[in-house]
Amino acid sequence: MKLRTSILAGLGALLASSFIGSALAADPYPNKPVTLVVPFAAGGPTDAVARLIAIPMGKSLGQTVIVENTVGAGGTIAATRVARSAPDGYTVFIHHMGMATAPALYKKLQFDPMTDFEYIGQVVDVPMVLLGRKNFPPNNFKELEVYIKANKDKVTLANAGPGAVSQLCGLLFMSREGVELTTVPYKGTGPALTDLLGGQVDLLCDQTTQTVPYIRDGLVKTYGVTTPKRLSALPNIPTLDEQGLKGFDVKVWHGMYVSKGTPPAVLAKINKALNAALNDPEVKTRLAESNIEIVPPSKATPAGLKNHLESEINKWGPVIRKAGAYAD
Ligand code: ASP
Repeated sequence: MKLRTSILAGLGALLASSFIGSALAADPYPNKPVTLVVPFAAGGPTDAVARLIAIPMGKSLGQTVIVENTVGAGGTIAATRVARSAPDGYTVFIHHMGMATAPALYKKLQFDPMTDFEYIGQVVDVPMVLLGRKNFPPNNFKELEVYIKANKDKVTLANAGPGAVSQLCGLLFMSREGVELTTVPYKGTGPALTDLLGGQVDLLCDQTTQTVPYIRDGLVKTYGVTTPKRLSALPNIPTLDEQGLKGFDVKVWHGMYVSKGTPPAVLAKINKALNAALNDPEVKTRLAESNIEIVPPSKATPAGLKNHLESEINKWGPVIRKAGAYAD
């Protein structure tokens, strides 16, 4: 009886171990839904890009990619969450150039963009536009310059907090104009744009992702684009550079990350999924409508992102320090 029990127990253990072994072999990454963390509010530009690519990424991975909005502090709360997540590929992060500006903007940062992450690749480049509420008095950029100087105490400028590109763009604009306006922080430019359309704030520098239809329909005033060249989606809108702010050049690059220590095989699968999404015809069409550029394949790589991030940290640090901007 005793012998039979131990034989059975031994057999059971053998079966269990071979079952676990084959289950592991049959269940490589990903064997459950993957979370894609967006550092700004739902309905904003980063969220829109994430939701667009989440579907084809999910198809490539064979699992659902769930978008999660972890908002606040210009994207740094989400970056901290991802830096501390398990290095298993189930918490993927999409963030823009705020990853490069945060080290100069924040006195204390809970993560290091250069040491706490693995890099998947660059994603897209998005131009910005300086917008005003529809009934804001200045009708063009020259009038805007005069108006903000005469009314600097009452003009409000919305942004998505320190580390957001709307804040960076506003900061550069104010420093070039030599005025300090009252800034109104939101948890993303999605809600900021809603308030601009509702007339609750005067100005907002936002990405083209969701603003092009409002610009075309005249629901906002548009004072200029932030890139050195005019945009094909908005050919009649002059650049800030051509209207006097020489060298004004802000294009919002985006990258995809996971936490440090994620295995190379998992990184390769996420990179493959990202590239599948960037080659998806529906994604291409939708992004082109908003003048969003998909990066070339050489940039949608770990090295492409890492090198770019490093050069952007070096580029923006001195600019931000010169503008005297910081956050707590
Ligand atoms: N990209 C941010 C958003 O999705 C806002 C920003 O960076 O200005 O809301």
